[in-house]
Amino acid sequence: MREPIKLKGETGTWEMVIGLEIHAQVKCKSKLFSGSATDFGASPNSQVSYVDAAMPGMLPVINSEAVNQAIKTGHALNAKINNVSIFDRKNYFYPDLPQGYQISQFKSPIVGEGWVIVDLGKGETKKIGIERLHLEQDAGKLMHDQHPKLSLVDLNRSGIPLMEIVSMPDMRDWEEAGAYLRKLRSIVRYIGSCDGNMDEGSLRCDANISVRRPGEEFGTRCELKNINSVKYMMKAVEYEAYRQIEIIEGGGKVLQQTRLYDPNKNETRSMRSKEEAHDYRYFPDPDLLPLHISAERIEKFKQELPELSDQKRERFQSEYGLSFYDADVLTADKKHADFFEVVSKNRDAKFVANWIITNFFAMLNEVEKSIENSPVKADQLGELFDLIQDGTVSGRTAKEVFEEMFTNGGSALEIVKSKGLKQISNTDELEDMVKKIIDDNQEQVNKYRSGNEKLFGWFVGQAMKNTGGTANPKVVNEILLKLLKG
Ligand code: ADP
Ligand code: MG
Repeated sequence: MREPIKLKGETGTWEMVIGLEIHAQVKCKSKLFSGSATDFGASPNSQVSYVDAAMPGMLPVINSEAVNQAIKTGHALNAKINNVSIFDRKNYFYPDLPQGYQISQFKSPIVGEGWVIVDLGKGETKKIGIERLHLEQDAGKLMHDQHPKLSLVDLNRSGIPLMEIVSMPDMRDWEEAGAYLRKLRSIVRYIGSCDGNMDEGSLRCDANISVRRPGEEFGTRCELKNINSVKYMMKAVEYEAYRQIEIIEGGGKVLQQTRLYDPNKNETRSMRSKEEAHDYRYFPDPDLLPLHISAERIEKFKQELPELSDQKRERFQSEYGLSFYDADVLTADKKHADFFEVVSKNRDAKFVANWIITNFFAMLNEVEKSIENSPVKADQLGELFDLIQDGTVSGRTAKEVFEEMFTNGGSALEIVKSKGLKQISNTDELEDMVKKIIDDNQEQVNKYRSGNEKLFGWFVGQAMKNTGGTANPKVVNEILLKLLKG
């Protein structure tokens, strides 16, 4: 069993306690309570209705697609979906919030407790509890860099549906927290309830962290706000844990605070303390009835839930005979898994898995392309594998062909033909060539025959050179063994 990372202080070891709150932008065409569009990158204030701008007398109408997405996500988190939930007003003033309150869910969220299994590497897993998932509106955005004297407000984001997913304080180090965040991103992408793009802000994370001596009660936590990458979240937690340990060991007390992480300096700094925390004066929004969801609707989405990464990984292991590692790599992203399944159909699955992971993914990484934008599609890669399998090209040549397909396009067979890369397996043809090498290099032959066996490789090299690397190495080996015996 993997032991969580413990930290060394001046006075002994410390444990971390971490809980994450994730804001996931719901993938749907319109806003949570209005019909405005939600496209990313639209010009400022081009996707704002009277409801989003909070004009007097405007009434919110719940978007049923957003509710469906929350139900699906709840099922994927093995959570209880509540038949009745309530939308509350969370009251605060900020220039990007024209309503003067955010519509959220407080006491009665749409989704209650659940759990996920996270992967900690080397086949180790851990179950992390989910406290709740609720629906809420996003706020607008202040733009401070558009005008020398004024700040401007863009309300495109105002009213966009968010799912806030709150974990239990079950994580014990930054590796576990990172694995949890990656797992949640994978889940929402698998079911299509959020695109999971952290760099576009579709998925954001607040990390709560406290430290304690092993076995003691939980300590006072700090909340690190709005972190937009897995890597930064892990770094922020690490920095914050050491900061808290230093305070306690110096005789001080950790203050319950909201803090901001600065990735450039790799440090956290205080935003507000508990005393400054808002009293949001939550109350049920009188413009919205309680949200009733029928048992049939809940069940329908449960039945329609697609295969998720855990099940897919297990199936890849049993159906295709893949190792845990290969199956895990291929199923982390559904698009990768789908690609593999297309290519491996009626082909040697282990070979295909290995080739995709080592050569294809490496190439995608190198040119920073996602699988959707790969110049080599699944069926094209499949054709290349057929050429390897039927002996038309050697494994080594196949890599060369693949690079050509990837950079300049074209089918595998065309490239093999036009570049003369077809593997020569014809024994007669190769035997004539090898005989000539032996005749021309009597000195080497004598050395080999008098015991210098290392020279065998040199003969293979000559044969490959003569054929531009297209000789079938297995056949060449057999012929050489026979002829060099003398
Ligand atoms: P709040 O209502 O202030 O947001 P919650 O009880 O909802 O507080 O907790 C928010 C997050 O903080 C949850 O993810 C929870 O797991 C985590 N959390 C709670 N207590 C601690 C603690 N002592 N240390 C670390 N994380 C904690
Ligand atoms: Mg909370």
